[in-house]
Amino acid sequence: MSISHLFRVSATTRSVLGRYVVALLILGVLTALSFMVVQSLIARMEASEDVVAQASELRSSVHKTMLALDRISMGDQAEARKEARFEAEGLQAGLAKLLDTFNRSEPQTEVRSIMDDPHDGLARQVHMLVERAKAAVAEHQETQHAPSSHSGSAATHTESMNHQSHGGGGARHLAHGAHGAPAMKAVDALIKKLRENAHAEQEHAAFVHNVLGVSMLVILLIEAAIIFRPLLKRAETETRRADLVTSELEYLAAHDALTGLLNRGQIDRVLSVAVKDAVNTNRQMGLILLDLDGFKAVNDTLGHAAGDAVLTAVAKRIQSILSSTNIGGRLGGDEFIVILPNLQKESEAETIAMQLLSSISEPVYFEGREIIPDASIGYAMFPIAGSNVAALLSAADLAMYNAKRSGRGRISKFSEQMRAESERARLIDNEIKSALPSGQFEVYYQTIHEADSGRISAAEALIRWHHPRRGILTPDAFLEDLRRIGQMDALTTFVLGEAIRQVSTWRRAGFNIGNVHVNVAEEFLLKADALNELKSLLAAHGVHPSSLVLEIPEETSLNNPAVVATIEGFHAAGIRVAVDDFGVGSVSMHHLCKPAIAVVKIDRALVRDIHSSSECRALMASIAGMFRDMGKSVIVEGVETRQEAELLRAVGFEQFQGFLWARPLPAAEVLSTALAIQPKVA
Ligand code: C2E
Ligand code: CA
Ligand code: CA
Repeated sequence: MSISHLFRVSATTRSVLGRYVVALLILGVLTALSFMVVQSLIARMEASEDVVAQASELRSSVHKTMLALDRISMGDQAEARKEARFEAEGLQAGLAKLLDTFNRSEPQTEVRSIMDDPHDGLARQVHMLVERAKAAVAEHQETQHAPSSHSGSAATHTESMNHQSHGGGGARHLAHGAHGAPAMKAVDALIKKLRENAHAEQEHAAFVHNVLGVSMLVILLIEAAIIFRPLLKRAETETRRADLVTSELEYLAAHDALTGLLNRGQIDRVLSVAVKDAVNTNRQMGLILLDLDGFKAVNDTLGHAAGDAVLTAVAKRIQSILSSTNIGGRLGGDEFIVILPNLQKESEAETIAMQLLSSISEPVYFEGREIIPDASIGYAMFPIAGSNVAALLSAADLAMYNAKRSGRGRISKFSEQMRAESERARLIDNEIKSALPSGQFEVYYQTIHEADSGRISAAEALIRWHHPRRGILTPDAFLEDLRRIGQMDALTTFVLGEAIRQVSTWRRAGFNIGNVHVNVAEEFLLKADALNELKSLLAAHGVHPSSLVLEIPEETSLNNPAVVATIEGFHAAGIRVAVDDFGVGSVSMHHLCKPAIAVVKIDRALVRDIHSSSECRALMASIAGMFRDMGKSVIVEGVETRQEAELLRAVGFEQFQGFLWARPLPAAEVLSTALAIQPKVA
């Protein structure tokens, strides 16, 4: 808990402060009270000490008086009488002082009776002793003036006093020590009693002191508990809250927020622990990677909430299939991972992968819509596929990629061949990237001929790659890779530039090749400024737009309004568009009704069987008639033999492209070769 938490004046703090103040007040009052009690005890003890001291003084005066009286009675007159008078005065004064102190000391009744008893109380006894001493002194003086009569009265007086104090002694001269013995007894009794009392008071004070000390300590402890309990409670709550926040943060740091599965960072940690453990225990383990198919389409068409619903459902299904030892995670996007740390057999991984696939493919319902997720799954085994985390991950990734390439909802197990292929692809990627800038691409041209005259009506630009090691490569060897690394658009631009420049070069050289056909990828058609790019190219080389035919692959999505808009833009600008490879793809026939589609190229697959199949011949005849009626220009591709050419000609086709006339050739060879051989088809 931080200091700021303690010092923030919260409700708790205020209540603690309140309790603290109350506790201080109670403690203050208690301290003052105990101080007063102790103080009064001390005062009483001091007072009784004074009484004892004065009683002791009185005792010594009694003693001295008694001695003086003894001596008087024994005949020692002059000095003793002097002393007796002196002591009697002292006695009187001492008694007065004692009485005063005694009264102030609030004596107990028992003590008071020792002092005040009318018969043998100390006061009376001392008083009598004083009287006796005074009488003895007076007796002597009388003896000196009229010895016989006075001594008798004094004796009588003394006797009467003696009689009073001793219950009637009757002797003329008292025995040694008999003068004042009752006073001495009383003073001794008083001192004894006072001492006893002082002792008792001391014990009482000690007891009170202890009781006060202990009770203050107890009160202090209680107060401390009262004050600090809420503080401790608060600290406890704070600590608990901090613990909660910490564990929540730890959870968030380790889990994917949407699906609650482990996130990438945590998966990396778990995976490295699992691999280490598998190494140490010499065990097999499996790694499954799972990527949803068509997830982007769900996001794009139904929105991100639908996408999230699919991801959450998939995560739940993954979780429900996994046992406690297997761990699922989300790597990001629509990619999931499953770690199988302890496998007996490789087939277990396959079984789990199959369970995952079938469970994931169950429909997900979102806002009344049914979404059927699909996944491509790849798995790899430790240690065969990879002996460390990185190798194992890349193996599973290759397997997953392989599954993805083979179509939706597939499972693929890693094989070394995948690694070799991926290595090759990586190499090609690097090579391709440098091919265009370093001039390794060259445009070849394959001429297109009119059937009856054999005349060249056009030429199709076809790309070739002068590979530094592998020689001249045809597009099949690299187009897909080029597309994968996003270079299709750059290639199209290059070929267009080359072809348009070449047409104008030929024309300037007096050779009219007719139209030039360029294959354009869909990527180019989706470019916003494709038309402007073309227009400026044509203008730069002085080539009329009608000399350019753009061949679009049959699979081009003519449903996409952007593509259609571009094509219509070309059409409006006078550039013609051809649908390529007609007859083998899946073009919707209604797209061909668009006037923007001016040319159709019939795929060579339809040519192959023309001489052996009458159905094929009938089909070709219909196609030829249909496009003629539609006003489309038709070119048949891949014509290799004269027989094919004649049959095609017979069913109504007029333009051909194929090895029968010419192969694709470098620009420099087109002239000589193409012009030399121009077979006419009757
Ligand atoms: P495509 O557009 O159908 O081109 C015709 C293909 O048929 C060419 O293959 C050509 O060599 C081949 N061919 C022509 N006559 C015959 C024949 O009588 N018999 C046989 N068996 N084949 C014949 P190529 O040059 O290998 O091109 C293959 C494909 O690559 C092309 O098919 C086209 O789709 C694509 N392609 C070629 N160049 C480019 C380009 O510059 N850009 C784009 N986007 N694609 C291109
Ligand atoms: Ca073509
Ligand atoms: Ca074609």
